[in-house]
Amino acid sequence: MKQIPYATQWIEEDDIIAVADALRSSNLTQGPLVEEFEKSIAQYCGAKYAVAVSSGTAALHVACLAAGVSVGDEVVTSANTFAASANCVLYCGGKPVFADIEPDTALIDPADIRKKLTKKTKAIIPVHFAGQPAYMEEISKIAKGNDLKIIEDAAHAIGAKYRLKKGQDWIKVGSCYHSDMTILSFHPVKHITTGEGGAVLTNDQNLYEKLVFFRSHGITRSTKHMKETEGLWYYEMHELGFNYRLTDIQCALGTSQLKKLDKFVARRKEIAKMYDEAFSSMERIDLIKEKKGFDSSRHLYVVLVDNRKNVFNWLKTETNIMVNVHYIPVYFHPYYRNLGYERGLCPIAEEYYSRAISIPMHPKLSDEEIEYVIEKIKQAILD
Ligand SMILES: *Cc1c(COP(=O)(O)O)cnc(C)c1O
Repeated sequence: MKQIPYATQWIEEDDIIAVADALRSSNLTQGPLVEEFEKSIAQYCGAKYAVAVSSGTAALHVACLAAGVSVGDEVVTSANTFAASANCVLYCGGKPVFADIEPDTALIDPADIRKKLTKKTKAIIPVHFAGQPAYMEEISKIAKGNDLKIIEDAAHAIGAKYRLKKGQDWIKVGSCYHSDMTILSFHPVKHITTGEGGAVLTNDQNLYEKLVFFRSHGITRSTKHMKETEGLWYYEMHELGFNYRLTDIQCALGTSQLKKLDKFVARRKEIAKMYDEAFSSMERIDLIKEKKGFDSSRHLYVVLVDNRKNVFNWLKTETNIMVNVHYIPVYFHPYYRNLGYERGLCPIAEEYYSRAISIPMHPKLSDEEIEYVIEKIKQAILD
């Protein structure tokens, strides 16, 4: 059995042709393929606007800037996430505040968000962990009552949806139905890829215009926004922006990949079902629960075990299964410790972390590989 990564891209011939066509065109960046990709993403998710940027991390940064996060502001995010969900707050001079998770879903716990609010809280960044949407209705109530912005970190969750009651319409992640902005990542381990890449979705024209400014140096050429016009060469810089643009080459890949997203998600669900069937009756394994009314797009498959270190190390050294861990609580990292964050802040996330292993989950997995993974996990647990 060859190495089985926990996650990987799926690139086919039509993706390669789309990229080659972009390379033969007259624009390598800032051409029409960027807008085409943005339109497709916005349409897929059901949002008015999408702004393509160079990574999910860049998306989080420009979203925080557009939300007005600045020095002294606090932003609440999940302890169980990738560092980027919190680092974006530090980039803006703000302070990330970590909310604990709910034990059975590993999703940010709205009750703990409430406990972590202060007069300085400016925004909430809920994370749709593993592809399952966070409790957006409750989180939006918290935000409305306290005049907070919400930026959904949907790096795991394009293609996911949720509904508030049976019989009601599904709400797509990315539609920003319960938020101001939603960010996506197109890193190769995520559902669809542009190499590196990301996007911010919003329904708010004002936020959209800010996102576009921050993506490209804070510069505008539009007469609507400029203070003066000195001639046709003229442009103005209004904000301290960045170069976070995504290229036409990458957007060509993104548009091609997006066409396959539903197929990818359907296969991820099949794989999750095979794993569920194999593991749900095993006493020594706990699984993340999928809540009623939540339709996860299955970015990760996590098994929770008691002797995690031994199981993980055995799988890593004795098999070809490239397991991973999602996540080390963000504030465990030395950088955060140096800022004064201490262990014990979010006990449920810490307990969850001590037992978590992410096993392979990506649409390219063959049934044979899935069976091999199941067999080896069982062996690792029972040994
Ligand atoms: C991947 C990821 C990001 C960052 O995305 P990049 O495109 O790698 O910068 C942010 N948040 C979460 C939860 C992620 O999984």
